[in-house]
Amino acid sequence: MTALPQEGGCHCGRLRYRLSAAPLMIYNCHCTNCQKITGSAFVVSAAIPESAFEFTKGEPKKVEWTSDAGSHRFGWFCGDCGSRIAHGQTPSLGVLSLRAGTLDDTSWVEPVGDIWTKSAQPWVKFGAITAERQPTDYAPFVEAFRAQGRF
Ligand SMILES: [Zn+2]
Ligand SMILES: [Zn+2]
Repeated sequence: MTALPQEGGCHCGRLRYRLSAAPLMIYNCHCTNCQKITGSAFVVSAAIPESAFEFTKGEPKKVEWTSDAGSHRFGWFCGDCGSRIAHGQTPSLGVLSLRAGTLDDTSWVEPVGDIWTKSAQPWVKFGAITAERQPTDYAPFVEAFRAQGRF
């Protein structure tokens, strides 16, 4: 079993956070926003309860934009080194999208599938569950993550 809380932070270490509950699911997002934000092909995103996440050191900077699905999103990042930490939505859905690569221990992080595959790079190999755009139903992702038995 994976211990809780889990901790993580930005690249320079001035921003630190604590996650005190298990993620609901972990997936890769291939939307064009994630590609630009990371400068990479996709983001490994852990959907976490907003109430179980807190910054323990430093103050995040905030950036806002409209997602490919048309919702009002925000991102917290380190103002010193620029590492993106987590994304949320306004009004809140009670869930944050944590950039899983910012966790100190990523040994338990295994995406169950891939979303926004319509904008994925052609060489990417997808996981078991896929959605061409924003999924209308996340239940298969949640079930597959629970089935990994890590929490
Ligand atoms: Zn930093
Ligand atoms: Zn995305």
